[in-house]
Formats: sequence, structure tokens, C-alpha cells
Amino acid sequence: MGKNCAICKLVLKWARRLLENHRMRTGMACVGIIVLAGCLTLVICPDPPEEPGAFPSPRLPIVVIDAGHGGKDEGAKSKGVLEKTLTLDVALRLERILNARGFSTVQTRSEDIFVPLSERAQIANRVPEPAVFISIHFNQGSERDIAGIETFYADNKDPIASDWTWIGFFSRSEPLDTGEDLAAEVQYAAILKTGARDRGIRARHLYVTRHTRLPAALVEGGFITNRMESHLLNEEHYAETLAAGIADGIEAWWRGRRTSAPPPLAQKP
Ligand SMILES: [Zn+2]
Repeated sequence: MGKNCAICKLVLKWARRLLENHRMRTGMACVGIIVLAGCLTLVICPDPPEEPGAFPSPRLPIVVIDAGHGGKDEGAKSKGVLEKTLTLDVALRLERILNARGFSTVQTRSEDIFVPLSERAQIANRVPEPAVFISIHFNQGSERDIAGIETFYADNKDPIASDWTWIGFFSRSEPLDTGEDLAAEVQYAAILKTGARDRGIRARHLYVTRHTRLPAALVEGGFITNRMESHLLNEEHYAETLAAGIADGIEAWWRGRRTSAPPPLAQKP
């Protein structure tokens, strides 16, 4: 019921007056009239949607953070710098930043252990919605001057059927979000924060983005084969800045999603 709506107040006032006039202060008739008035206000004026821009939402999404590689899988490496070490460092920073902003988080790994890709997707697919999946990786290039950040999203969503609950399966009517908007927001915010070269976003056939039912993005946060970026990534300040940029992107994506409205109707001539 629209508690502050003038029409609702008017209907309730009318119901009260009717009760007074007909001296029906007790019994089923009173209950009937009050229920009828309540239903009427609900029909003519349901609660208004949340204020556009209202944030933080009472129900922020759970962020599943996936630190790429780990354990026996070192990922890219160059001059003693291991991708698996950088991904875990940024993932733990991202978790701390998101928690401070009110987001709940789940890590696919929080130490230097090997976690198969299928298990990472299973962890994400068990998290109740609203939730979002962010995988963190670092790049290597054949040429030393290649640098910058790029973000990928799923070319097609194909979650593992056994990870789904039957309720989730049957209640879904819309196609799964490929994570394109999420990737765009994360990429934009990470570039804005770090000043790194912008390599854009792309759809790609990657296991974790494809086999998770959540909107998912995979960030390649820089090239460890580029001397300058490798040096920066080893600096605490830069890693923290990159993590903050990714957090900004997740927050911007969620804010945009919460406030998205259908386009205004065309004006009649
Ligand atoms: Zn990687």
C-alpha cells in the first residue's frame, strides 16, 4: 500500500468515516470494510519503486571473487613474477574493499592452492542470487611492449546442469546475463582508476564465465611480461588501486542495474 499516497489516504479516510456513520465498530463488517479499503489502495496505488539512485541497496549482490590459477598452476610468469601470486593478492584486496562497502563475498580460493575450473564454476553456481562473478587474471604477451587492461565476458552461457537447483531451473524464464554490461563497467572503472592502457572488452569462450549462471567478467589486470606493468603490479599501492577500480565497476554496474528503467514512451504528435 502506498503509505504516503494522497489517494490511499483518501480511501482509508472514506472507510473510517463509513464505519463511524453506520456505527459498525465491531464484528465482521468492520473487518470487511477495512480489508476492502486496503485492497483498493493496493490496486490503485502499489508501493512506488525505490528512488532512482538509491544506494546502497538493502540487498547488495554477493560477489564471487575468483583468483585465477593457484598451487601447481602458476599461470603466466616472467622474471620471477607469478600470475597466481598477483591474482590472489588483488582478490584479497578486492574482498576487503567490497566488504567495507557492504558487499558479501565468496572466494574460490583464498590461499595458494589448485582449484579446478569446474569447481570454481560450481562454487559460483551454489551462491544465491543476486550475485556476480569476477575472475582476476594477468596477461602475458609475445612482445614486451604489449600492455593494458582488458575484460572478457561469456560468448554464450552454458552453466553446468548439475549445479542448478530444480527451483532455480524451473523458475527462470529469462536468458542468462552474459556479463557484457558488468565487463564494461569493470573495465571502465579499472582504467579510470589506474590510468592503464585500455584494451577494451570482448566476448570470449572462457570456462568460468561460460559455465557460471551469474553475470560474470574476467579481468586481465595487466601484462606481467611488460616491464613497467610488472613493476607496477608488484607495488602495493598499484594493486590496491586496481582492486578499488574493479570494486568501483561492480558497484557502478549494480547501481545501473538497480535504476535502469524502460525508455520513455514516444511523445504523441
Ligand atoms: Zn590467467
